Amino acid sequence: MSDQAFYSGLQSKLETLRTDGLFKPERVIASRQGSEVVAQDGRTLINMCANNYLGLSGDKQTSDAAAAALEKYGYGLSSVRFICGTQTVHKELEQKLSEFLGTEDTILYAAAFDANGGVFEPLFDENDAIISDALNHASIIDGVRLCKAARYRYANNDMADLEKQLVAATEAGKRHKIIVTDGVFSMDGTIAQLDRITELAEKYGALTMIDESHASGFMGKTGRGTHEHCGVIGKIDIITGTLGKALGGAMGGFTSGRKEVIETLRQKSRPYLFSNTLAPMIAGASLAVLDRISKSTELRDRLMDNTAYFRQEIERIGFTIKPGTHPVVPVMLFEAPVAQKFAARMFELGVLLSGFFYPVVPMGQARVRVQLSAAHTREQLDFVLKAFEQAGKELGILKNN
Ligand SMILES: *Cc1c(COP(=O)(O)O)cnc(C)c1O
Repeated sequence: MSDQAFYSGLQSKLETLRTDGLFKPERVIASRQGSEVVAQDGRTLINMCANNYLGLSGDKQTSDAAAAALEKYGYGLSSVRFICGTQTVHKELEQKLSEFLGTEDTILYAAAFDANGGVFEPLFDENDAIISDALNHASIIDGVRLCKAARYRYANNDMADLEKQLVAATEAGKRHKIIVTDGVFSMDGTIAQLDRITELAEKYGALTMIDESHASGFMGKTGRGTHEHCGVIGKIDIITGTLGKALGGAMGGFTSGRKEVIETLRQKSRPYLFSNTLAPMIAGASLAVLDRISKSTELRDRLMDNTAYFRQEIERIGFTIKPGTHPVVPVMLFEAPVAQKFAARMFELGVLLSGFFYPVVPMGQARVRVQLSAAHTREQLDFVLKAFEQAGKELGILKNN
């Protein structure tokens, strides 16, 4: 407590964040997560900004499955996996995830952040090359930083640039090359072109890795993910993902792939070796979620219906969206102050939304990001669309008016 300059330095940096409009306040919810939430002031809001794609986060079946696992396996393990922290439920979940993803084996982590943080360093060294999409998630960027491999970056979703980087890594004589991409990019809802990426990987003898955090559980006809959507199941070397979005929404992450990869990670991956076991109630609930969505595609089908309906109607009203098919729908407002005003007005009208502006998205591309859920009813979506129309008219941003 003797270095006052340290604390005043932090205070002034925080003040700068506030004056620059970059300070992130936390919204407090007083209910379960869901398509409707209760705010701290008691108001009910329609929630359009959760990663709750399948509506399973606040779902009764999910929490019942967690309660059953809590009862059977207890609250926690007080151990890492390899000492005395592996229960049958963890092995069952790893097997179920492998089956679901179409891989050989899977390793669990406390978060996808840890899965990505711990995947590169044990597998690659200075002789190798990691070729990474420029818009990949922060946890991939951090994971790559922890590894000695040479880094190559290609422009977002730009296959010509990817090929250029593959050529560069090949000419540099790199031993192994791995192409790394988010399966779906969460700011734009862009779907990685895995058909093209796997072709290029074949051409240059590269490995492939996808982060399926915004895809596992609903992308593809049976919800297996972006690899199913793109018709390349079995062609991806490494799949990472989260249990904290569509697949139940609590927390937890995984890495999935060939046996020798997963076994190496169990021996050498630092966030796995030096961090506690995933709580058994989360493993049990995740297992129940995977059972449920393996038996029926009802939830992902409803999510995709809701997405198609919302995308069509929001354009009909006169908003500009980034085209696509993913349940992330960026509604473009272009200017940061407009996006801020718009999100605030929607909040008053009873809709919870998040606004994004520079530096999170490029200058002049400010937006509100809508995220659809299987839990949204048609009535809720119509309510939200009405609010969009009203706020759009008030702020004079509708194309047709
Ligand atoms: C959310 C997200 C993560 C982090 O997931 P956690 O399990 O919450 O750590 C990692 N990668 C991507 C692409 C994500 O969207």
